[in-house]
Amino acid sequence: MIYLDAAATSAVRREVLEAMWPYLTGDFGNPSSHHGVGESAARALADARATVASWLGCRASEVVFTSGGTEADNLAVKGIAIASPRGRHIVTTPIEHEAVLASVDYLARQHGFTVDVAPVGRDGLVDVDAFAALLRPDTTLASVMLANNEVGTVQPIAELAAMTRELRIPFHTDAVQAAGWLPLDVGSLGVDALSVSGHKLGAPKGIGALYVRGRIPVEPVLHGGGQERGRRSGTENVAGAVGLAAAVRLATEHQAANALAATTARDAFVAAVLAEVPDARLTGHPSSRLPGTASFVFPGSNGETILLELERRGVVSSSGSACAAGSEDASHVLLALGYDEDVARTAVRFSWGPEVDAATLASVAPAVGDAVREVAGLRR
Ligand code: PLP
Repeated sequence: MIYLDAAATSAVRREVLEAMWPYLTGDFGNPSSHHGVGESAARALADARATVASWLGCRASEVVFTSGGTEADNLAVKGIAIASPRGRHIVTTPIEHEAVLASVDYLARQHGFTVDVAPVGRDGLVDVDAFAALLRPDTTLASVMLANNEVGTVQPIAELAAMTRELRIPFHTDAVQAAGWLPLDVGSLGVDALSVSGHKLGAPKGIGALYVRGRIPVEPVLHGGGQERGRRSGTENVAGAVGLAAAVRLATEHQAANALAATTARDAFVAAVLAEVPDARLTGHPSSRLPGTASFVFPGSNGETILLELERRGVVSSSGSACAAGSEDASHVLLALGYDEDVARTAVRFSWGPEVDAATLASVAPAVGDAVREVAGLRR
């Protein structure tokens, strides 16, 4: 099987599992306990926090461990918006992950927030001028993802965040898909909050982190024992945090070289698919995109059926986001990019990690051609 659905999730790396193992067995203590086993868990948690902080270029105290990307997004959006004395206005985009969109929707329904959505172009890039025009003195939060999970477009986050900084508006970015591919230095990005998720980069499902700049108040979403400096109650997932830190170390070791190699392989793959299927269109931005994502529409075909045909040929891919897979709705991302509903339903996303080499990827393009022709009833 060739697994090309890394944007949905990735396998746990052996080194990650080995790093976690002691904290599930011998050193299984609760970090809040005042005995040796607890203290050793607390030390491991502190070390993991320091690793994540150095990855993000922030202070350890600014890292909140969460159960994943969804919780990090919920905490950023709801937590910052509700705690802010500025007002009740949010600016976001129509192509955010559901974790952001549904949190914003909750704030509108339950807390009287008004929401403005900055438009995106056909390439998935946010219209920078339209974004700037939506910012108001009472804007509480702007949230724009670093890289899109369906089409892979990478946004000019530093430029957008600079606009909000001038107006002292907190800026959150969902970096779940960018993690492992792009540098996530929060100082260079200029963001006040940033979400990551472990299972997209070789750590297990159920661990993630939110960076929140020290001076920004956050209203917790989970109340209880006051862990994570009161921002996220609940006994800490020590083994998960250790696993996330191990995955971060692996991902950052050769990040630039991995991204470069994957970009070259991706471009060759895109060209090969377009040569196989002349009607196909690459979705998202041609160059400002994730190294490990290539997504297409195949007008006149059917995305779900192509997926089945590809799986019969040993290639696992996805019609878009894993959350939306199987739902009747066309992708909200492709609709926001201006695709018609019937074309949006023909989407197939291929996504991979650094372990997938160029030769493997190249071998998939003919399978894509075969699958699309099979669906069209046009066998070679
Ligand atoms: N944000 C983006 C951009 C994602 O792609 C995902 C997962 O697909 C999430 C958030 C949610 O992360 P998690 O699955 O860790 O809850």
